[in-house]
Amino acid sequence: MNANNLRFATLAVHAGQEPDPGAGAIMVPIYQTSTYVQPALGQTHGYEYSRVQNPTREALEENVAALEGARFGVAFSSGLAAIEAVTKRLSSGDHVVSEENVYGGTHRMFTQVLARLGLEFTFVDTRDPDLIANAMRPNTRLVLLETPTNPMMRLCDIQGATEIAHEAGALLCVDNTFASPYNQRPLELGADIVVHSSTKYLNGHSDIIGGIVVTNNETVHEELYFLRKATGAVPGPMDCWLCLRGTKTLHLRMRQHNENGQRIARFLEGHPKIEGIHYPGLPSHPQHELACRQMRGFTGMVSVETGSLERARALAEGTRIFALAESLGGVESLISHPALMTHASVPPQRRLAMGISDGLVRLSVGVEDADDLIEDLDQALRSA
Ligand SMILES: *Cc1c(COP(=O)(O)O)cnc(C)c1O
Repeated sequence: MNANNLRFATLAVHAGQEPDPGAGAIMVPIYQTSTYVQPALGQTHGYEYSRVQNPTREALEENVAALEGARFGVAFSSGLAAIEAVTKRLSSGDHVVSEENVYGGTHRMFTQVLARLGLEFTFVDTRDPDLIANAMRPNTRLVLLETPTNPMMRLCDIQGATEIAHEAGALLCVDNTFASPYNQRPLELGADIVVHSSTKYLNGHSDIIGGIVVTNNETVHEELYFLRKATGAVPGPMDCWLCLRGTKTLHLRMRQHNENGQRIARFLEGHPKIEGIHYPGLPSHPQHELACRQMRGFTGMVSVETGSLERARALAEGTRIFALAESLGGVESLISHPALMTHASVPPQRRLAMGISDGLVRLSVGVEDADDLIEDLDQALRSA
């Protein structure tokens, strides 16, 4: 199948999904095997050992690469393993410029693991291109963006940041987990590498942990493939198959996430018990114009400022459909309290500096009926 002239929805269903050559199964089989029988000494069918090659994993990689408009994909056992592989391309003494409001686990890995091994990190607010430019050093080899960020929904101009990175001889990587390729395709804006926690929107059903890296750069692809083979963070075939089942409906799910997210953001913006809202799809978002330029939809991620821990608690514990849980991007709606949950390990001062107050509540709006979700939030806010 020539992916070049097909559109997103067709690619979601078909890319990487050739009928099984053995039985003709229309669904890619779950190749639940560690090894492959060799017809003769020194001959193989192209597969030797599943840490190195697995057909189910390859089908997933081809599918997600097509959705991002990329030539290559390398799947990992988690989103953090994918980001780690991108940074393990570097050597001791190399420098990375990272968005300061990156996923908490990414920040923890950089500062508590990789810094110990000799990589250097500078964290900046990537909303301001001057701060990125000022952080670049002669040994800077990578700029890592996350846009929109979690949970403040800040955006970074991908095209602008790419120009700064390239001018300094560094590669630009975007963590595209929050937007999904349906809403944002960083490679088309010049980025070199895109990473995902496929745990979230790509899989979409809250039943696996996974990660993937895609790129058009053949050298980077070969390095990532080697790093995965050499260090071992592979996803199992069953998880790859579940993720593939998820990506087939990514376009349908994202349309509904976008629509529900927009409706709930509008409802909450006008609510007397809500003091502030962070959603790039609202004209009141300070970067709404950039959002319209580089995104095609604004997802189901909405954060609200309730004004106090007591109100935040009442909202987070008072919903009946929204479940109180970490994670995001599944078909079911979730509600969380960043200061006490996902960002509890961030020192309080740093947390506040990023706007993550005790009154902040984050919603991952699912694909249920938006009227039911609005009524659920309304009754929880009434008691708050
Ligand atoms: C969840 C998440 C990660 C980490 O992914 P895991 O699959 O949990 O390892 C990285 N980046 C973002 C933006 C995430 O939301």
